[in-house]
Amino acid sequence: MNKKIVILPGDGIGKEVTAEGKRVLQKVADVFDHSFVFEEAQIGHEAIEATGNPLPDESLMKLKDCDAILFGAVGHPKYDNDPTLKVRPEQGLLKMRKELGLYANLRPIKLFDELLGASSIKPEILKGSDILFFRELTGDVYFGEKGKKDDGNTAYDLMIYQRFEIERIAHKAFAAARTRKKKVVSVDKANVLESSRLWRQVVTEVGQHYPDVQLEHQFVDAAAMKLIQNPRSFDVVLTGNLFGDILTDEASQIAGSMGMLASASVGDTVGLYEPIHGSAHDITGQGIANPLASILSAALLLDISFGWKEESEMIIRAVEQALKKGYRTRDIRDAATDEKKILSTSEMGRVVRDEMERIAKTQWA
Ligand code: NAD
Repeated sequence: MNKKIVILPGDGIGKEVTAEGKRVLQKVADVFDHSFVFEEAQIGHEAIEATGNPLPDESLMKLKDCDAILFGAVGHPKYDNDPTLKVRPEQGLLKMRKELGLYANLRPIKLFDELLGASSIKPEILKGSDILFFRELTGDVYFGEKGKKDDGNTAYDLMIYQRFEIERIAHKAFAAARTRKKKVVSVDKANVLESSRLWRQVVTEVGQHYPDVQLEHQFVDAAAMKLIQNPRSFDVVLTGNLFGDILTDEASQIAGSMGMLASASVGDTVGLYEPIHGSAHDITGQGIANPLASILSAALLLDISFGWKEESEMIIRAVEQALKKGYRTRDIRDAATDEKKILSTSEMGRVVRDEMERIAKTQWA
């Protein structure tokens, strides 16, 4: 099966981890006799430096003409330290989401048992946690009107949602809940925000089409607390762009590290897969970034965009095996970790590919 995949490494550790995600996809092609055509495109700081544009037309054309996208991250300290810069890496990201209609961001938060000790949360609270976030991605304060007035002394970002934007992601969340524990928690701030009151009303209406799925509404502040207090009480979480951004970073602690969490952004066209972490300048170039979020993003890509469950499962099992054998990157080590098994980014990628090879051999022996 010939599939075209665009690799969009972006900036910082985005490049380092995406290289490993791509190698794992190539391994899948070898093992299952598929054929992938990989194309590279630029985005973010790298694209600004090369063209002055955080998402050049050439990149956008490639993204619109492929079967799936594996993305790294964008960002650079230059922009973080100077908010006055007008052309910024994240504009490329927002434009890409809007242009490709990627309105639903799926973030599975599942803890590998081997990493129970790596989280800052107690193991007995964490064990068995399995949450699927649906974060709305093309609305909210990120895309509402923004501006400054009063000589720069007042600034605003409009929090705005339209009915159709809420309906389409709510349907996706309820449909997914049907294949899981049949429970949706919708997160908003309806006690204060008008846009949240519309959110709650529309989600309730959509929920009526799924009578077999239990719906609960929570305010974002309470949800933030309950996520840490009792993560096992959640199944599917449905929320807007801003609240989803914050809650999923918080929930990364359930999985042990930002370096473990993959995400899928889907909508009407092509799917985009990426780690939830950013470009992590503090560790860029050191070869110590955890590539597992990118590798698990590749697994999501095969499952969601191509419907290849077996291929996707093989990657997840290979990651599990690597962890079971004690291999770790620095961000997921704990007191019990054997120092000799702390691996670099590329070493961890190689260990996962070796495990895939092993699984393939034992399955077909
Ligand atoms: P970050 O996710 O890059 O890093 C947060 C912390 O987690 C850092 O200490 C980092 O070292 C660690 N970390 C992240 N990924 C890791 C991995 N794979 N392995 C090991 N450790 C890892 O967030 P930040 O520091 O707030 O932002 C850095 C830059 O990334 C900023 O410019 C920001 O705008 C950008 N950013 C981009 C995206 C994106 O492209 N989707 C998302 C978030 C932040």
